[in-house]
Amino acid sequence: MTSADRPLSQENIVDFLADIFERRGDEEYLGEPVTMAEHMLQGATIAEQNGLSEEIIVAALLHDIGHFTSEFGTFSMNDTKDRHHEDAGAEVLAPFFPSIVTDCVLYHVAAKRYLCATKPEYFKRLSEASVHSLNLQGGPMDASEVAEFEKNPNLEKIIQVRYLDEAGKRADMDTPDFHHFAPMVQRVVDAHMTSGTR
Ligand code: FE
Repeated sequence: MTSADRPLSQENIVDFLADIFERRGDEEYLGEPVTMAEHMLQGATIAEQNGLSEEIIVAALLHDIGHFTSEFGTFSMNDTKDRHHEDAGAEVLAPFFPSIVTDCVLYHVAAKRYLCATKPEYFKRLSEASVHSLNLQGGPMDASEVAEFEKNPNLEKIIQVRYLDEAGKRADMDTPDFHHFAPMVQRVVDAHMTSGTR
């Protein structure tokens, strides 16, 4: 099932995401000792173990969903190049999830560039693959980018999810599967869809 086959809705978005985890989750997370699904499940599990909010747990669970862009159909006839994975992920989630979740997904790459610019000790946490992609992503932010980024009202949450991203790269961690989190994902969707803040 791709979003091109059947329009996504409040009722099927969680199944759509579960299906991606199931079919594509075993793919390698390039340069890391975990698969894509393990990586995202580890972040969500660590968030849950630390008693973080459901929105943060769900954001960690879905932050890299945009790596599976081929699942999302073609966005626009005007696209001339591949979208960045963080943009693709946030775009598919945006109709169904609150801005805390979509901002954490959309800005998880920017958060790495931000933390490298503002917290010298953060850089040391990065895996080799993450340092490599940092360079492709523009390197650490400059002062004006930092000032702009700090205007985001969800800054603190975005940073939290970034740390979960870094934490979820363990070769030896057991986690529950997507189905454990599915009811929580649905709760976050339902709360958002009925809140009238769409
Ligand atoms: Fe990640």
